Amino acid sequence: MAPDAPGPLDGVDGAPTWTVAVRALCEFTAKRGDLDLRFTPSPTGAEGIEGHGTVTARRPTGYQREVPLEGVFDTLRVRGRADGWDPHAKRLEEIKTYRGDLAAVPLNHRALHWAQARIYGALICRQLGLPGVTLALVYFNIDTQAETVFTEVHEVPALQVFFDAQCAQFLAWAAQEGAHRTARNKALTALQFPLPAFRTGQRELAEAVYRAARSGRCLMAQAPTGIGKTVGTLFPLLKAMPVEQLDKVFYLAAKTPGRRLALDALQQIRRAGPHPRLRVLELVARDKACEHPDKACHGASCPLARGFYDRLPAARQAAVDEAAGHLLDQVTLRDIALQHTVCPYYLSQELARWADVVVGDYNYWFDTSAMLFALTQAEGWRVAVLVDEAHNLAERARGMYSAELEQGALKTLRRAATALSPPLKRSLDRLNRRWNELQREQTATYVAMDAIPAPFTEALHQTLATLTDLLADRPALAAEMAQAGADLQRFYFDALHFARIAGSFGPHSLFDITLRPGRAPLPARPAASTLCIRNIVPAPHLQARFAGARTVVLFSATLSPRHYHADLLGLPDNTAWIDVPSPFTARQLTVRVARDISTRWNDRERSLAPIVELIARQYAAKPGHYLAFFSSYDYLDRVFALLSAQHPGVPCWEQQRQMPEAARDAFLARFTPGGQGIGFAVLGGAFAEGIDLPGDRLIGAFIATLGLPQVNPVNEQIKARMEAAFAGQGYDYTYLYPGLQKVVQAAGRVIRSPADEGVLVLMDDRFTRAEVRALLPVWWAPGERAGDSKAE
Ligand code: SF4
Repeated sequence: MAPDAPGPLDGVDGAPTWTVAVRALCEFTAKRGDLDLRFTPSPTGAEGIEGHGTVTARRPTGYQREVPLEGVFDTLRVRGRADGWDPHAKRLEEIKTYRGDLAAVPLNHRALHWAQARIYGALICRQLGLPGVTLALVYFNIDTQAETVFTEVHEVPALQVFFDAQCAQFLAWAAQEGAHRTARNKALTALQFPLPAFRTGQRELAEAVYRAARSGRCLMAQAPTGIGKTVGTLFPLLKAMPVEQLDKVFYLAAKTPGRRLALDALQQIRRAGPHPRLRVLELVARDKACEHPDKACHGASCPLARGFYDRLPAARQAAVDEAAGHLLDQVTLRDIALQHTVCPYYLSQELARWADVVVGDYNYWFDTSAMLFALTQAEGWRVAVLVDEAHNLAERARGMYSAELEQGALKTLRRAATALSPPLKRSLDRLNRRWNELQREQTATYVAMDAIPAPFTEALHQTLATLTDLLADRPALAAEMAQAGADLQRFYFDALHFARIAGSFGPHSLFDITLRPGRAPLPARPAASTLCIRNIVPAPHLQARFAGARTVVLFSATLSPRHYHADLLGLPDNTAWIDVPSPFTARQLTVRVARDISTRWNDRERSLAPIVELIARQYAAKPGHYLAFFSSYDYLDRVFALLSAQHPGVPCWEQQRQMPEAARDAFLARFTPGGQGIGFAVLGGAFAEGIDLPGDRLIGAFIATLGLPQVNPVNEQIKARMEAAFAGQGYDYTYLYPGLQKVVQAAGRVIRSPADEGVLVLMDDRFTRAEVRALLPVWWAPGERAGDSKAE
């Protein structure tokens, strides 16, 4: 357990059993009042350290900085470093830096600061044998360098009562947590596999995961659909928890269905063994958990934020009690939160500290400000991470480490600022001038650069500094701008993200400028543009994430070629690999290649009729449910229209652009057992992976594309970067591998169990090429004739 969370020490010879930092103690016991997430510009970490230095440098000779203090209550050891101690004045100082108006620092924050000062006061009195002490809260304004000091004089008895009360409260919780952990580990040690037997390949997978956890290595596990990957990865990690003294297991999924599968598997595991105490928590996005989407996250707006911290202890206790019998999934957590009138989303964030298994999205571990990763670092947890459908991770991570700025948004802000804030207007104008300089010579719509010009980043930093000061001095400015139709806060956050990503710019990314379509770049009146820092290789950003866990297990049915994923993700050199053979046989899947069809852009028109003919012929030969995949909605629409016109008796339905969840469910609901018809979908879309249509709910798939990304200026730049990073692999890493991965994922919808049988028609002559064949699953045996098309 964490050094500053309740954690077992040696616990012998009367030594304390738990240790906690002063700050963590107070945050747990003394946080009261509202949840308040209103935006207030605050000093950065570096500014805070500098501010502390400035204050302590002003103190007289003999003043002591960062004074280590420690004390014991019963079996609890409390320790920390007081900011400053003046031995002559017998004055202990707690220093807090801030921006803007001190009155804006919420009262509950100040109460927390006083609680810390009192704990330090009790500790120093005990350590130095003092009868009393003066406590000073020093608020230091980072911009004006002014100090505001509040003091209290305390005698030991009162400080001791306060200290004992906080410790007793914490110790009760710590003892409960200790008992939970002991019981959990005992139960996990005795845990039996939750099914009567391992499926083919499942034991091999489970053993590889266990070995990875024991050896502290990462693992890439390519394992086919249908072998029970979710249980096959969770079970061994749970078994490794007591042996490896793991604090937590994080199960990360790319999409909601993946989370659901994990929760089902965990329920199965809980039911199968004598371990009802395993605490399982589901984390969902804020917009999905929010009960008041029309309100803001502070007490003056949202009733579930008002008094949040007053009611949190009871809600937290209720949740961990409930976790003994049920999963803390979205529904259960919502019930508990509403019973205690607290926000379900922020309750779930708090419970991440106390759960054994957390199920959530990739971004909780891999994003720039990933909550679970940050907590793990801060608390020193020992964790294991499972990454479900890991073939998606590289693409998702690219998005996390990319950033965009829209000049149109800047223009709107400049217009609104003219009347509302001349200093803001001047700052934004300066940024706009630098922005225009970037594109002054630009004649093409799209231009990529190897570096971000320094004058622009300097102007961006200046603008951010001005915005930070303005928002601190005039908190209502963002709301005034919003009334004028300009989203200052959004721009501020976008600019902050852009500046942060720019700070780590390197060969792994490219900087590009896209002029707004339809406007020529005129030197006198430059076109508006979008600036983008586009991450291509997320590896340098992710390496710390892999190093921060005891093991990270990445699993998927499609992780080939191994080096492609390992290179893009930056997996450690000693990452283990397992390729679990498929339990399916060539007998189950008839694979046909239509080698006289070309789906290349220039051949699209010509391809429509043969594709329709092939689909209709297959359908007539064996009526049933099929999925037909295309590279784009446009292609899909054209084939759909032609098939509907020429074969009106064939039931067809098509995927729509931006399809709502209910419509997606309706699309899938048509695949009933024993039914017939063809669902048209785009490759890489919502129906191309993560859906399960076993038996005769789906008997075949047509794939009219290699899935290759479009050749365009952006992808060509990406190819060049890939070539530079991975010599000789530019085309494969940009086009071939991502495309074929989508094909194999989509085709994987057809055979879901050893009892399934079906047909797969690959429509493009390039499926006959050796380099393409090498990327298809080995158990496929393409070669039969595709309708009347020429067979290989
Ligand atoms: S319910 Fe919604 S608005 Fe209220 S605190 Fe929670 S997330 Fe914020």
